[in-house]
Amino acid sequence: MARYTDAVCRKCRRIGEKLFLKGERCYTPRCAVERRRKPPGNSIPRRRRSSDWALQLREKQKARFTYGVLEKQFRKYFEMARDNPGVTGDSLLQLLETRFDNVVFRLSFAESRQHARQLVNHSHFTVNGRRMDIPSYLVKPGDVIEWKKGGNNGSVPEFIQVLTDGPPKRTVPIWLRVDSGKRAGEMVALPDPSEIDTNIDVRLVVEFYSK
Ligand code: SF4
Repeated sequence: MARYTDAVCRKCRRIGEKLFLKGERCYTPRCAVERRRKPPGNSIPRRRRSSDWALQLREKQKARFTYGVLEKQFRKYFEMARDNPGVTGDSLLQLLETRFDNVVFRLSFAESRQHARQLVNHSHFTVNGRRMDIPSYLVKPGDVIEWKKGGNNGSVPEFIQVLTDGPPKRTVPIWLRVDSGKRAGEMVALPDPSEIDTNIDVRLVVEFYSK
């Protein structure tokens, strides 16, 4: 499975804004965007006005980096969204939001999407009682996501307790329901685009691929 292995803070610096890819650190002065505004590399930034294409490309990259999706798969999502009835941009956002790793992040079970992906890859979750270790699995309304029980004695590993004890660390969107006591969550409905907390202009992403 291909994945991005470079330093993630470079993505934020390349885009020129915070994408919140690292959890806690993103909210501290140690954030790379706070410390160095200029893009990575030695080139001197040009002050030319960006073309429409450059703006569309930047927005597409921002969406890709935010959800941690490689180009080939992102284009596949765009094609699926285009084939769906309704507004393509809304459908694209909905597909990205229903990715399993994103849902785990939105349920506040992980500090970042990257962390969520790692937890999923390491088989820490079940969906409807069955082991699920595919980050790109598209969660459906009614799907119940649970932390997998511990070893033979059913104990809960300490790192899971740290992540799940107490109320959720972030606000859980209304299309998801979390049961902290049971260390489980459920998708109660598909996310409405107006309910999705994002700063991505999907209209520009659609324009990028529609050329
Ligand atoms: Fe981006 Fe977070 Fe790194 Fe800041 S700390 S540059 S927001 S990933």
